[in-house]
Amino acid sequence: MRVGKLIDLHTHSTASDGSMNPGELVRHAKASGLSAIALTDHDTVEGLQEALEEAEKVGIEVIPGVEISVVFKPEMHMLGYFPGKSYQKIKGVLEFLKKSRDERNPRIISKLNELGFNISMKDVEAVASGSIVGRPHVARIMVEKGYVRSMEEAFDKYLTPGRPAYFCKEKLTPEQGILEISKAGGVPVLAHPIYLGLNLNQLDNLLGRLAGIGLKGIEAYYVDNSQEETYNLVKLAHKYGLLATGGSDFHGSFKPQIVIGRGRGNLEVQYGILDQLRGLMA
Ligand code: AMP
Ligand code: ZN
Ligand code: FE
Ligand code: FE
Repeated sequence: MRVGKLIDLHTHSTASDGSMNPGELVRHAKASGLSAIALTDHDTVEGLQEALEEAEKVGIEVIPGVEISVVFKPEMHMLGYFPGKSYQKIKGVLEFLKKSRDERNPRIISKLNELGFNISMKDVEAVASGSIVGRPHVARIMVEKGYVRSMEEAFDKYLTPGRPAYFCKEKLTPEQGILEISKAGGVPVLAHPIYLGLNLNQLDNLLGRLAGIGLKGIEAYYVDNSQEETYNLVKLAHKYGLLATGGSDFHGSFKPQIVIGRGRGNLEVQYGILDQLRGLMA
């Protein structure tokens, strides 16, 4: 049974690699019965204005956010949540990240061409409707052209570190990510800690360190968490005075199993978490 007002603090639009444009996404969230969502596109805030305008129209709260990839093996993403228009202040850093993407993408394409795949930069840009062009877009083309059966296969065979068409791009360190989000007036929250590939002890150490340099929350309620993982993350959040946030990582039809606000069916992020998040937005 659904109890209380529910929210989703992790969603993507066409501004990065979601299937819905920001307006559609906001209407979809409203129609799904959510009280609030955060739009957290990868490395861009370009979808936010449209999302905020649509939110006014349909009567739902939208929290401006972003999800920044930072240096860590295998991967680490830092969410930032901003009060009002302060998200504009993170744009300078995002410009830098976009440049490094724009330098990397042609290298991926030419390597894939060398490997015998007929894919052009134009193909990839056509699939990416926003300005953030990344590996998920390349993977989708490879599926569409029948070179692989799934995006997962495209990543596993070609696009992931150690595979032939992987090229790294410049990233912020976790510390820089936390600092830049904070400097812009935002609240830095560690996204999906389960993807860090750490055991509980290692995660405990890492969170202690990041909390010491200004991390404010961790995404303890996440679509791919087991109950036990959620339990452990909530406990760690408590230990370090971090807010336990949550979200579905909604990507629309590009991740069709994931339902906004509900994840794979059992996700529940209570509205009270948003009140606490706002409390951290000094
Ligand atoms: P990029 O920012 O262009 O380097 O692409 C990173 C994004 O690709 C991540 O945020 C994920 O959404 C996606 N991704 C990374 N690894 C995989 C994988 N093995 N399978 C599917 N998607 C992946
Ligand atoms: Zn994504
Ligand atoms: Fe992520
Ligand atoms: Fe995400």
